[in-house]
Amino acid sequence: MTKPKYLTGDNAAINEFIDQFDVFLLDCDGVIWSGDHVFEGVPETLELLRSRGKKVVFVTNNSTKSRQEYLKKFTGLGIPSDVEEIFGSAYSSAIYISRILQLPPTQKKVFVIGEAGIENELRSENVPFIGGTDPAFRRDITPEDCQGIADGSLLDPEVGCVLAGLDFHINYLKLSHALQYLRRGAVFLATNVDSTFPMNHNFFPGAGSISAPLIYMTGGQQPVALGKPSQAMMDAVEGKFQLDRARTCMVGDRLNTDIKFGIEGRLGGTLAVLTGVSKVADWEAEDAVAVPAFYVDKLSDLGAVARE
Ligand code: PLP
Ligand code: CA
Repeated sequence: MTKPKYLTGDNAAINEFIDQFDVFLLDCDGVIWSGDHVFEGVPETLELLRSRGKKVVFVTNNSTKSRQEYLKKFTGLGIPSDVEEIFGSAYSSAIYISRILQLPPTQKKVFVIGEAGIENELRSENVPFIGGTDPAFRRDITPEDCQGIADGSLLDPEVGCVLAGLDFHINYLKLSHALQYLRRGAVFLATNVDSTFPMNHNFFPGAGSISAPLIYMTGGQQPVALGKPSQAMMDAVEGKFQLDRARTCMVGDRLNTDIKFGIEGRLGGTLAVLTGVSKVADWEAEDAVAVPAFYVDKLSDLGAVARE
């Protein structure tokens, strides 16, 4: 195993590191912010990268927000950004469905398990959908539902795809609909498969915990995942930004999503920050899922070269 290079406090190494890349793909939670708290010095560090002619792209697995909603968050936190720089797993899913997946013309509808962010991105790509935040699916199942789901009279014959993301209102009714669509041959997609996500200094069930029961109830059918570390997301990012992978660096706090994403995407570099989930011991472990090429204590450590 090659040991990652520690950059904090070494300005010559930081300058050399920055010079190696034209594009920085930046994870959000754990790198830019934690929940609604932006890390100190991050806006200035982004400014430094931009002033050196670097392109920054924010790549997040959180599917609960659309790019427009992220833009509001960036603005609210005092981080200059543009909707074209934001790439979330809801957007990644929407463009995969509209531009890559060839659903039959009579089965273009998506059954959504998830929040408004997914719906907004599907709308932006003109993808028809049902489920999601519709109150008709946010309630207890009834005997009439069971009958109609079983005999198909309550199912929409135009559904050709099931998309599962984090859904704070997951329930038996939605799972029952999704199972029947999958049994009828619908394509199975997941916005991302994070087992958990960090909130309030602890962990909560992530989007992967929503698709896992669907995998189980279908006897092991696996979704195509559209978030990190899936290379379907990398292909979409590359397609949109025309980036040169060798001159691109992935920056993240989580080995099994961000760092793996960068390594499997054969990017020129990966940078881990220690302000989120993964710690040094995680990549020093025998069974480390991925080892970054570089690491810093926090993103703003890169900004030290602007203060020289
Ligand atoms: N999924 C959800 C629902 C989240 O809230 C978060 C972080 O807040 C994530 C995934 C991970 O996001 P990121 O890829 O920006 O770390
Ligand atoms: Ca993260």
